[in-house]
Amino acid sequence: MAVSESVQGDLDCVHQGGHSSYMKYFLYARKSTDVEDKQVMSIEGQLAELRTVAKKEGLEIIAEFVEKRTAKMPGRPVFNEMIKRIQKGEAEGIICWKLDRLARNPVDGGQISWMLQQGIIQHIRLHDRNYYPTDNVLMMSVEFGMANQFIRDLSSNVKRGLRAKVKRGEFPSTAPTGYLNDARRKIIVVDRKKSKAIREAFELYSQGENRLEDISNFLYERDVRSLGGLKLHKDRVKWILSNPFYYGHFFYGGEIHEGKHTPIVSKKLFDKVQEVMLERGHPMKPHNEPKPLCGLLKCGTCGMMVTGENKTKVCKKKTHHYVYYHCTHKSKTIKCNEPCMREEVLARELNEILSKYAIPFPWRNELRVCMAEDEKKAETESSLIISDLREKVSTISDKIQRLLDVYLAQDIDRETYLRERSKLFSDKKSFEEKISKLERDAGAWLEPMREWVETASTLDEIARRNDLPSKKSSLQKIFGSNLTLHDKKIQENPSFPYAALRAARQKFPESDTSFIRAAGLGIEPKFSLSESDVLPLDDPAILFKNSSYPPRVDELRESRRAIRRRLPKSTNDHGNHTIRQMRPSFKRLHSTRGRGITPVCEISF
Ligand SMILES: [Zn+2]
Repeated sequence: MAVSESVQGDLDCVHQGGHSSYMKYFLYARKSTDVEDKQVMSIEGQLAELRTVAKKEGLEIIAEFVEKRTAKMPGRPVFNEMIKRIQKGEAEGIICWKLDRLARNPVDGGQISWMLQQGIIQHIRLHDRNYYPTDNVLMMSVEFGMANQFIRDLSSNVKRGLRAKVKRGEFPSTAPTGYLNDARRKIIVVDRKKSKAIREAFELYSQGENRLEDISNFLYERDVRSLGGLKLHKDRVKWILSNPFYYGHFFYGGEIHEGKHTPIVSKKLFDKVQEVMLERGHPMKPHNEPKPLCGLLKCGTCGMMVTGENKTKVCKKKTHHYVYYHCTHKSKTIKCNEPCMREEVLARELNEILSKYAIPFPWRNELRVCMAEDEKKAETESSLIISDLREKVSTISDKIQRLLDVYLAQDIDRETYLRERSKLFSDKKSFEEKISKLERDAGAWLEPMREWVETASTLDEIARRNDLPSKKSSLQKIFGSNLTLHDKKIQENPSFPYAALRAARQKFPESDTSFIRAAGLGIEPKFSLSESDVLPLDDPAILFKNSSYPPRVDELRESRRAIRRRLPKSTNDHGNHTIRQMRPSFKRLHSTRGRGITPVCEISF
């Protein structure tokens, strides 16, 4: 205080003993909830201490300002309000616990310093020292500078800490439902009870028949609830079902990271759930059909839908209820006189159709065996590739370690080190992605085929059962929207695999499974050559003169003609138009030569 004392006489009695007589003070207290103020005295504490100081020294406090914000950025509303009122001349002094309460950033710190140098602020009373306009400005600058540096260090220390944590595969935040933060060991552990409920919720939703609300209800039953003990909101359920944390990864800082925590669900189940969520995100309009068979058939005359209707008849004082199906007669251009049809009669006809498309059990069993063989093959093939890729990944990991050794020994410069390192990491990631893709996909192509075989083998049973809705859904699988009703007779127009199955059933007895493995005699229908751009390569009908592979175009043309000559017209009845449609779904099966469905190749004429 040497400077202040020496000039005290010139400056009137502005400071020290004299100031209290006419100066007014603002009291400013601040504490944020942020980590930087963890060690700082509470606001109540600051207020009490500072009021005591003011009272003891006879400083007149005309207003108290309390702020619960960080001072690391300019723009605190209460602080700004106080500065504005000081500039207006309402007060000349500030009472405050420490300088870092006033500012932790150079903008606010500079403003306080400047106002003090200009004499706009004439006294800053801290709990343990004073600042006056004539003081050495360096003191205050150092103090403010330290407050600012403190916040910078803290922020980068915290960030560095979190980054290190993420790098170790530790999620640096609150564990999601189904996990717990183990505070003692500072890791995330599986919540035994809730994780089970979460896994079951994933399984339930993956079946595709439940809404998010149903999952919320399920979780509620299993004691997975909101903080208030209520059912989880469906958005929350959606968030849970799409959180990669549950299969072992986590999002942090906008990036996905590999976690060290134990997964609750498999990636496969997770993927399935995402698929279902996508599907259910575009739900069909709710069907409001009064009768179970509505929307299944089209009128054979005018092409309008066939609808159902209740009829009540009174006969010999007894009431009878019937359901009739008939054309909606909505066409404005075609006059339609299709007759009505009783539900029982229609159902009987549908049953007959259904059982015609059932796959005989001996065939089903044979196809299962074929598929199992194919799957085995796919697994051994992909596991070979996987083990090769794994070796590559471990080689790269070794290289990364050696590169670090070389860098630490100062044999290469930092730039080279970083460049090589990022190259290696990128390669490693690519291989790892390939591995996980192969692991997920090995036998996946067989799924549609397997599903079809199982569905087709239940058709007989569905035909026997008195369950109209499942009859309808099975018929829609077979025919799509290609079932028409004309003069009380149903006209069938099946989609590909069923057309092929139907053709095979007409050709082979149910006990005969030999054709399934016989080359060229698959269960597919014969081909409508005029429409097809796909030909079977090992069909016996194709006899190449010089058997070149792939066949030349003129050879194929000739064989097309040969097949056309050989085919009786009647064999073209089933599924001929669908050769093109069958390709995508069963293309993979075709790669197994002579397995029921013959290989195909694409040629253009
Ligand atoms: Zn009609």
